[in-house]
Amino acid sequence: MKKIIIFIGSPGSGKGTQAKRMVEEFGYVHISTGALLRRLSERQDLAKKEIKALEFMKKGHLVPDWLVYKIVFPEADKLILKKSKGIIFDGAIRNVKQARAFQKHFEKLGLGDEVLTLDIKISNRESFDRLTKRRICGKCDEIIPWTSLTAKLKICPKCGGKLKLRKDDNLVVIKKRIKAQGSTAQKPILDFYRKRKMLKIIDGMKSIDEVTLLVENEIING
Ligand SMILES: [Zn+2]
Repeated sequence: MKKIIIFIGSPGSGKGTQAKRMVEEFGYVHISTGALLRRLSERQDLAKKEIKALEFMKKGHLVPDWLVYKIVFPEADKLILKKSKGIIFDGAIRNVKQARAFQKHFEKLGLGDEVLTLDIKISNRESFDRLTKRRICGKCDEIIPWTSLTAKLKICPKCGGKLKLRKDDNLVVIKKRIKAQGSTAQKPILDFYRKRKMLKIIDGMKSIDEVTLLVENEIING
């Protein structure tokens, strides 16, 4: 099993859900760029540059590379130093420049060969449908994927918090996000990892539990 697992996948592919399951299953520590950014946006002592970048993000644009590195690398280093079993990223890498920077960072830590990338593949159409229906817990950040079982939930099954649509989940923004983070945009990132034999493709159109089995299998054999 590799020490660094990176989930790639279109918005709504369920990579966040799968990442959390793998944390429970194998004892990895989860680094969610989305959660780190949401936490950052709640701070009162932000620099102008940071406030601007966060506002840009709320409009459906990607967070600038420098801000991703600034929040993710220290968190990753801290967790690796703690000698955790390993770390899982989801939604961290959004362009090939970032992929290169992450790889370089891991090489510096002597972990260049410890990377496994999993692409949870769904169509752009599926991505759109899932995003317009999923919700998030206002209290604990739990994402409630849209399924026939969860459609009627009003409160978070984990903490009882109120469920709401994600702030960035509106139609125009969703379309922009899919364009910026969907399968077409991800191709160069996938090529980067494929060339290095660090990439496995997972069929994300299957049920959540079926996808979990596929993911587990790749992690165990990776
Ligand atoms: Zn909750």
